[in-house]
Amino acid sequence: MNNLLKYPVGTQYQFLSGGGEMGVLIRAKDWSKTPLGDPEDWPQSLRTMVSVMLDNPFGMYIAWGSEYIQLYNDGYRPILGSSKHPEALGISTRKTFEEIWHIIESMFDGVMKGKAVGFPDFMLPLNRNGFIEECYFDFSYSPIRKEDGEVGGVLVTVIETTNKKKAEADLEESKQQLEFAIEATELGTFDYNPLTNKFSSNKRLKDWFGLPAETEIELHHAINVMAEKDRGKVTAAIQKTLEYASGGNYNIEYTIVHPVSKKETVVHAKGRAWFNDDKIAYRFKGTLKDITEEVKARQKIKQSEQRFHAAIDAIQGILWTNNAEGEMVGEQPDWAALTGQTFKEYQGFGWANAVHPDDAQPTINAWKEAVRDRKTFVFEHRLKLKNKSWGDFSIRAIPLLNSDGSIREWVGVHTDITEQKKAEAAIRESEERFRIMAESTDVLIAVGDETSNATYFNKAWVELTDRPMEELLKFGWVDLVHPDDREAYVNVYLAAFEKKKSFTGEFRVLNKEGNNRWLLAKSHPRFLPDGTFAGYISSCVDITERKQAEEILKGREQKFRFLADSMPQFVWTGDAEGNLNYYNQAVYIYSGLAPEQIDKDGWIQIVHPDDREENIKRWINSVNTGKDFLFEHRFRRHDGEYRWQLSRAIPQKDSAGIIQMWIGTSTDIQQIKELEEQKDYFISMASHELKTPLTSIKGYVQMLQSMYMNSEDVFLKNSLKIVDKQIQTLTNLISDLLDLSKIKSGSLFLNMEVFSGNELIQEIIDEIKHINQDYNFIFLPETKMVLFADRERIGQVLRNLFTNAAKYSPDNRTIKVQSIIKKHEVVISVEDSGIGISKNDQEKIFERFYRVEGKNEKTFPGFGIGLFISAEIVHRHNGTIGVKSKPGKGSLFYFSLPLTNSK
Ligand code: ADP
Repeated sequence: MNNLLKYPVGTQYQFLSGGGEMGVLIRAKDWSKTPLGDPEDWPQSLRTMVSVMLDNPFGMYIAWGSEYIQLYNDGYRPILGSSKHPEALGISTRKTFEEIWHIIESMFDGVMKGKAVGFPDFMLPLNRNGFIEECYFDFSYSPIRKEDGEVGGVLVTVIETTNKKKAEADLEESKQQLEFAIEATELGTFDYNPLTNKFSSNKRLKDWFGLPAETEIELHHAINVMAEKDRGKVTAAIQKTLEYASGGNYNIEYTIVHPVSKKETVVHAKGRAWFNDDKIAYRFKGTLKDITEEVKARQKIKQSEQRFHAAIDAIQGILWTNNAEGEMVGEQPDWAALTGQTFKEYQGFGWANAVHPDDAQPTINAWKEAVRDRKTFVFEHRLKLKNKSWGDFSIRAIPLLNSDGSIREWVGVHTDITEQKKAEAAIRESEERFRIMAESTDVLIAVGDETSNATYFNKAWVELTDRPMEELLKFGWVDLVHPDDREAYVNVYLAAFEKKKSFTGEFRVLNKEGNNRWLLAKSHPRFLPDGTFAGYISSCVDITERKQAEEILKGREQKFRFLADSMPQFVWTGDAEGNLNYYNQAVYIYSGLAPEQIDKDGWIQIVHPDDREENIKRWINSVNTGKDFLFEHRFRRHDGEYRWQLSRAIPQKDSAGIIQMWIGTSTDIQQIKELEEQKDYFISMASHELKTPLTSIKGYVQMLQSMYMNSEDVFLKNSLKIVDKQIQTLTNLISDLLDLSKIKSGSLFLNMEVFSGNELIQEIIDEIKHINQDYNFIFLPETKMVLFADRERIGQVLRNLFTNAAKYSPDNRTIKVQSIIKKHEVVISVEDSGIGISKNDQEKIFERFYRVEGKNEKTFPGFGIGLFISAEIVHRHNGTIGVKSKPGKGSLFYFSLPLTNSK
């Protein structure tokens, strides 16, 4: 082709030698036929420009002369497309760029006037490939000056930017798409610059964080809004992301708490960091997704799973799944843990090998049936456990369905019921034990359910009534209850089912001989382990004999009452505690009180107020000690008059000596009392009257004795001695009687003084010895005994005790007297070896006029008032007096005086 060229390379025109395709075309062009003319005539500036253009890799274009004749290089060629090239070469710009000439004409004209212009990304709608397309160019129009300075043409340098523009448009579009995606997925976005610590984000993210509207904030503002529990975690994750070694990936979930509304938003943040050559992170961008609802849903699922597992645990069950065909296909950790079977062992129907041999086949049969019929499977069987022991289990399995109704899988639960089974067995055993016991006892035992129906009667019942148990069940037994007892007992029985408490009752039941037997029934409520009422269990014992005995007793009591009521004396009884519970008719008639009045205010209301205190004291004492009660007191008659009564009560004891009751009587002693008073009055009068003549007789006798002291007349002397002794006895008696009157009238007064007790004792001993010369007194005195008492009266007591000791010891004539000081008192004792006193009499000898009766009565003259007076004197000194004695051996009388009385 080279030889076809008009201007071959290396020939005339050096300036046309460069260029690629356009070099060839320009050289081949017959320029003489163009307005430019032959290159030989081209001005130098054009030539130079063309030469530069051809060798330039950038697109260049020259429009020369007023015609704007075009020359261009390979770089420019694509701009012309297929429809303008190669025709454009050598023709006018006006023609080639006809479609845009109106746009560029003025620019061209401007350039021709020396004004260069340039446009970046200038759009020109070019028709260069048979259709108009938007093309972009960075181009500059600059003037090419000729040697003479005139502008000869326009140099266009151009870089097409259409592709760049397109790429930009694509970028923009993808950016928009991204934004759309971000918008559509409701993502928050952030962009963090670790170098400046600036943090920017989209509006959504700002809304969540409640961040200020400024585009950029510092990172810690965002961190501070996170839930406190998450801050550390997020900070650590960010730090890690910014470390080069971490790979720069960021993926975390945390909670944001809106600073104002406090609304919590859980987000899933994802992002990545970019690192520069120094491995320093310079950018960290990412997105945040609101997963609040998702987390809630997740929690719900978790909770429901937990609940499900807890439920399985709570029923102590283990969970397993089988496929639709009822085979174990997947791993069953629960099952493996329970039975110790491995997957290989239990898979398919292998699990049946863990079932007890007796239960295995029935289980498989039932299971296959359930799978076939798609029915809930309910079964019980024994399993060999991991530890080789057997356990009882109840099984329940249900099919889970797919949406199309086909079975997806079977889910089953084995619940351990070993303990329950054991408990059931224990209950059976205890029931059996109860039955054996109930059947082998004579006690009548019956059981009723919670609805009051009798459900069981033992053998004893059947034998007693001679009826089969069936006839007694429910309310059958009621027919056998005596008609008189029936209603009352049935009422008690039915009422008990309301109260659910123990109850007792008595009723008669017809036995097989046709006799009525009295039964005492005791019923106790039964409760199940969970506390529900289950009815009653009743035991009855035959109390016919007791009832008969009671009847007899009742008869006796009636007789007693009849007897008591017909007596003029008051008769009363009291219980073991001393509460009076019966008074005969005479009490009511005498007092004029109704039984209710005595019941209400007590018997004490009848007793004279002055006697009450002592009365109660004595009664309590008797009840406490069991000693007979004996008391004189006044009872108020219906007309208000008080009359003296002697009351006596004795305890009734059972065979064991325990007091059962008290029986008392009160006898009217008003008349006796009155007579006694007359007698006392008489004695008092007589004693006074006798005392004066006696004193004068005594004086005369003593005078006579001293007159005839030296007389030879022995008879006279003896007679006077005897008279004197008798007068002394009489004087003593009279003074005793006077003392008695004083005691009665309450005018026995004490003259307290300090004196030596031992001296007094010795004095009285000497006195007595003078009269009873053949008696031997041994006195063992307390070292020093100072008394504060009535010397005269204590002497009287000693005299009485010494006289008695001598009087009642006719054979053994030694009398021992002793005085000792004990803690707070002085005790004086007088011991003889005489006739002694019986136990019974010991209690009474201190009473007025009491004398021991018997054959010795005449032998030992006396009135029985000495000890009474002695006791009275000692008591007035706040002392005590007593006796220890054995009949035939002797007596020891003692009295004590409180030491507070001594000084
Ligand atoms: P009496 O004037 O009868 O002696 P007392 O009051 O002194 O009256 O005694 C009452 C009764 O106590 C006596 O009758 C006697 O039976 C009995 N008695 C008193 N002292 C003794 C004694 N030392 N030994 C035996 N019996 C005694």
